Amino acid sequence: MALSARRSKTDVLGVRQRLLFLQPRRAVLGVTAVLAAVSVACGAPPVPGVSSDFSINRASDGHGLRWNPCAAIHWRLDSRIEPGAFTPVNTAINTLASATGMTFVYDGAASYSPQVKVWTQPSPLVVSFARQSGSPLGFASSYLSGAGQIGEGGWWASGSSQANIQIVKGYAVIDADVYNRSTTNVRAATLLHELGHSVGLNHAAYNSEVMYGMLAAASPTFYSAGDLSGLRAVGRPAGCL
Ligand SMILES: [Zn+2]
Repeated sequence: MALSARRSKTDVLGVRQRLLFLQPRRAVLGVTAVLAAVSVACGAPPVPGVSSDFSINRASDGHGLRWNPCAAIHWRLDSRIEPGAFTPVNTAINTLASATGMTFVYDGAASYSPQVKVWTQPSPLVVSFARQSGSPLGFASSYLSGAGQIGEGGWWASGSSQANIQIVKGYAVIDADVYNRSTTNVRAATLLHELGHSVGLNHAAYNSEVMYGMLAAASPTFYSAGDLSGLRAVGRPAGCL
């Protein structure tokens, strides 16, 4: 598990503003073991989880960083090297929508792999299947480092003052090679995990949550109690922005 954060400034909205803040959050997801995809074909039993086990990010004035949960979030999928990805990703998006009360609108395919420090993505939310940086096979993302990492998710928040900083962009990048070597359960958990990051969740403390920083065959395949608490805290139950 690794977690890092950067802060810098940029004119992301393309309008002149006195202050504009950039607070991307990155969190790397690893797998404890890469198992044959056929070894666990059915879903793991639901894991209750711990309702207080979640973490969200806050601006310096204390407000939680989140998307405006009352505006539709448009997303695209880069599945150039994972042609069958739409169905499982769309299922995960629908689960995220249900848990947050937010609306996600699919705008079609993207030919775009998110890269570190590059936010010129073709839609506010991008899900991409890629390979580790430096891969000779193409479709590389600098978010992916190999070495057991299966994915990374994050967000970018901006605003004209501390009081109105909100998340405006998000991403989930999946290592296609590790994904394809993983079990059905780990694949499902990976998508939910990285999408959780894209709406502002950090890692949970216990492995009973999807947002725990490591996944294994026994990991939950649905958001657990702490995940759901966190998703409500960044979602529509927390009010419109
Ligand atoms: Zn993570």
